[in-house]
Amino acid sequence: MHEELTVWFEENQRPLPWRAAYTPYEIWISEIMLQQTQVETVVPYFERWIKAFPNVHALAAADEQAVLKLWAGLGYYSRARNLMAAAKVLAESHRSALPADYEALRALPGIGQYTAGAILSIAFNQPYPVVDGNVRRVLSRINGWEDESPRRLWEAAEKLVHGGVPRMINQAVMELGATVCSFKAPRCLVCPVQRVCVAFKTGKQQEIPPVKKRPATVRVQLFAVVQERNGRFLMKQSRGLWEFPMGGELPEGKLTHAGSCRHTITHHRLEVQVFQGTLASKKGYQWQEFEAVPVSSLTRKILAVAQVG
Ligand code: SF4
Repeated sequence: MHEELTVWFEENQRPLPWRAAYTPYEIWISEIMLQQTQVETVVPYFERWIKAFPNVHALAAADEQAVLKLWAGLGYYSRARNLMAAAKVLAESHRSALPADYEALRALPGIGQYTAGAILSIAFNQPYPVVDGNVRRVLSRINGWEDESPRRLWEAAEKLVHGGVPRMINQAVMELGATVCSFKAPRCLVCPVQRVCVAFKTGKQQEIPPVKKRPATVRVQLFAVVQERNGRFLMKQSRGLWEFPMGGELPEGKLTHAGSCRHTITHHRLEVQVFQGTLASKKGYQWQEFEAVPVSSLTRKILAVAQVG
């Protein structure tokens, strides 16, 4: 199976920017960006990021606002904050280089078992396993596993990476999951491991892996978009990002309903109600140029609702 996977990856891999040189810094940044985010979305963000912060040294010295502005729209902002914090640790204790050591990597903010394995195998070509959603699906289907057992999956990934070139094997399984062995419509007829795949042989691709159902909670959130004559907005900074006045109840002022939208954050849905007008008190807020500060995609969405409404 190693041979089939490696040959398939060499011939079919997508030409992604972090695959040009496999530097530890670029692999680290790409892996963090790819958590919870699609490859197509990540590519332009990655390219802008590398231009602005080409190495650990540049990131460690970067201004938080500049970093968050480049991250704006990718969501899960703790990832950007952890990157900054980790870069500072690397600059202080590791001569601004990613260590090729599992424990040292795990000690850095934002680096868990998966990311440490990805950096060590893809950048340093060391035999460390990776299990993400794609790997979980491919390995479960190949082995015909219908239940969830993280331990068994990590053991299978460990065995697999020891049998080939780590950089190639781990990327091959991830790429296979992303491009061939998809969740809804696996393309088994062009799959390099079809010969050994239990799910294919038994026709159980749709049942494996089992779907995790999480109840979505819905929360109503009210936002007030208040604009000055010269175009600036009333905003406040929260954990680096700028946002409109908000709450579970309408703040005092002269506000009219402008529209609504929905937004999903991790496992809960937001029912967003947008209002426009003026507030009785501007305490705690500042007038800001919208395009000059880092904002989340939710804040951008709210502005669009206000402008249409
Ligand atoms: Fe996935 Fe089909 Fe390949 Fe099995 S044969 S790994 S189900 S694409």
